[in-house]
Amino acid sequence: MELKDKRVTVVGLGISGEAAAKFLHEHNAKVRVTDKSDNPQVQQDARALKDMGIECELGEHREAFLEGSELIVVSPGVDNSALPVKWADERGIPVISEIELGYRFCRAPIIAVSGTNGKSTVTSLIGQMFTAGGRDVYICGNIGVPFTSVVSMAAPEAVVVLEISSFQLERIDTFSPHIAVMLNITQDHLDRYANFDEYANAKLRLFSNQKAADYAIVNYDQAKFKDLSAKSKLLYFSKRSLPKKFEGVFVENEELLVRRDGRYIWLAAKEELSLSGEHNLENALASGLAALISGVEPNIIKETLCHFKGLSHRFELVDTINGIKFVDDSKATNVDSVKKAVQSSSKGIILIAGGRDKSSDYRILAGPLKEKVKSMLLIGEAREKIKKALSGAVPISFAESLEEAVKTAFGSARNGDTVLLSPMCSSFDMFRDYKERGEVFRNAVNSLKRSNKDA
Ligand code: ADP
Repeated sequence: MELKDKRVTVVGLGISGEAAAKFLHEHNAKVRVTDKSDNPQVQQDARALKDMGIECELGEHREAFLEGSELIVVSPGVDNSALPVKWADERGIPVISEIELGYRFCRAPIIAVSGTNGKSTVTSLIGQMFTAGGRDVYICGNIGVPFTSVVSMAAPEAVVVLEISSFQLERIDTFSPHIAVMLNITQDHLDRYANFDEYANAKLRLFSNQKAADYAIVNYDQAKFKDLSAKSKLLYFSKRSLPKKFEGVFVENEELLVRRDGRYIWLAAKEELSLSGEHNLENALASGLAALISGVEPNIIKETLCHFKGLSHRFELVDTINGIKFVDDSKATNVDSVKKAVQSSSKGIILIAGGRDKSSDYRILAGPLKEKVKSMLLIGEAREKIKKALSGAVPISFAESLEEAVKTAFGSARNGDTVLLSPMCSSFDMFRDYKERGEVFRNAVNSLKRSNKDA
């Protein structure tokens, strides 16, 4: 793709929009940026771009700003209903995502990781396996480091491990990873997609441009992947056994085994894995297989799987006070991740949930909650909706803040119980993001601990 003197408009000035604008500028394109918000963060980002000579439109989108554009690059937060995207589509101006832009300039092989849940965990695991194996690796994408901010540095012998969301896949064209990992697809983002199928189809675009020499790694235990038609070589991961006619990684006699080209390779014993929970077993299987077929030695894979610390705000034990565990799972922003958190905990959970609804169907949680949850405290915009969906399953009360919810939970918990923050919702009604929500939870637990000592 020739960018010199090309007139390109970037829509959305988030972290990847900013990186895309800088990348385009470095490649001598004539770049402009438009963002409909005008908050202090956007203004700060825009200042940095303006200093480079990039024109920025903030607070609104005007049709005239698009005049003369030959290419549009969209940030993941910008959907098809955004005005500049509609105008560009009407005029036949190509619209691509930041991922597609990076891909056109990427010289290193790409391992792309997608799925509703587990992406960041698996991206980090694979990245650590490469690092431990002495390979030059770039961990980027949805995990927080934009692809276009690292792509120029990645030499052909390096490897790029790229976390990808469905939003980033909406506007791909030629993007095609050498290895594509799809961990799972469960209900999420129904505030952006008309229905589940539309969301699932956006995700499945991950495989659409792959060739016979590439690999697709999918979850054998999820029915929708059993008849996946991909041009690439299909490999599976399964928490159970895998029928002999398939190749991939699976569990037999509590051991993680790979079957490939008729040979068996031992990866690890299940009990040695550092992360707990059946969902993390899936994460371990998928990452081990991706690393193995990329040439990482099995002993290095095993070491990583047995020592990986886990990421913050993903089912993270914050502290134990009077025998009561406090677990921060602030990143659980959809129904299935909460189900996994509840299934991975022992009985006696006081669940703190709520936030901004994503048109989710919370009724799916009634069964799992009934089994293990003693009571639920709800905060945020979605609390009425969640209460309506789950009131028959568990006792529910409201709190006005997360701090209040932590205090109330502690007051009703007994030795051996778990106070679990696993919100089912996004955080944007009350917090900057899930990280801030998790930090507020941690601080509330820390101050409980201090006052408990003083008492
Ligand atoms: P993502 O990047 O897809 O959001 P994370 O690794 O950040 O995934 O984890 C997000 C949430 O999903 C956390 O609550 C975590 O405990 C849970 N989770 C992690 N892996 C899985 C999985 N394979 N299936 C379901 N839930 C998972």
